[in-house]
Parts: sequence; C-alpha cells; structure tokens
Amino acid sequence: MTASKKTYKFSYQIDQALCMACAACEWECRDGGIYIDETVNYAINLDNCTRCGRCFRACPTGAISRVSNP
Ligand code: SF4
Ligand code: SF4
Repeated sequence: MTASKKTYKFSYQIDQALCMACAACEWECRDGGIYIDETVNYAINLDNCTRCGRCFRACPTGAISRVSNP
C-alpha cells in the first residue's frame, strides 16, 4: 500500500486580525501544526495539523476558526 496523504473535511485557520500572539495555540499543539510565518504571524501548517482542535479551544480571542474544505 502506498502512503497517501490523509485528507480532512475541514481545516483550522488563524485570523491575523484577531490574533494577539499569546502563544496559547503553540503550547497546546502536539503535532507541530502551529508556526510563525514569514510575516511574523501565527499560522497553521496544514500538512502537520491533525485537526485535533486543541488550538481552536485554547485560543482566548476566537482567532482560530474551523473551515470546511472544498
Ligand atoms: S488543530 Fe491540533 S494539530 Fe492542528 S494546529 Fe491546532 S492544535 Fe495543532
Ligand atoms: S491562541 Fe489565538 S490569539 Fe493566541 S497566538 Fe494562537 S491564534 Fe493567536
């Protein structure tokens, strides 16, 4: 069996306008899904993200939202 990339029905994303860079999501994530991007904003690496929802529940400002994949 070939290793195929797991596909998900939804993704999490961070709204930079709401993020206050508290790092709660980074602390909660066990899978290396949270990183700081080239614009020095928190972002989600969807290749690593297992959609566990820990960051989503931990975010104090509601900056992380769940979006359906097309
Ligand atoms: S949903 Fe889980 S795996 Fe994905 S970025 Fe958030 S804490 Fe990390
Ligand atoms: S938990 Fe929310 S406010 Fe804090 S760094 Fe992550 S996305 Fe930004």
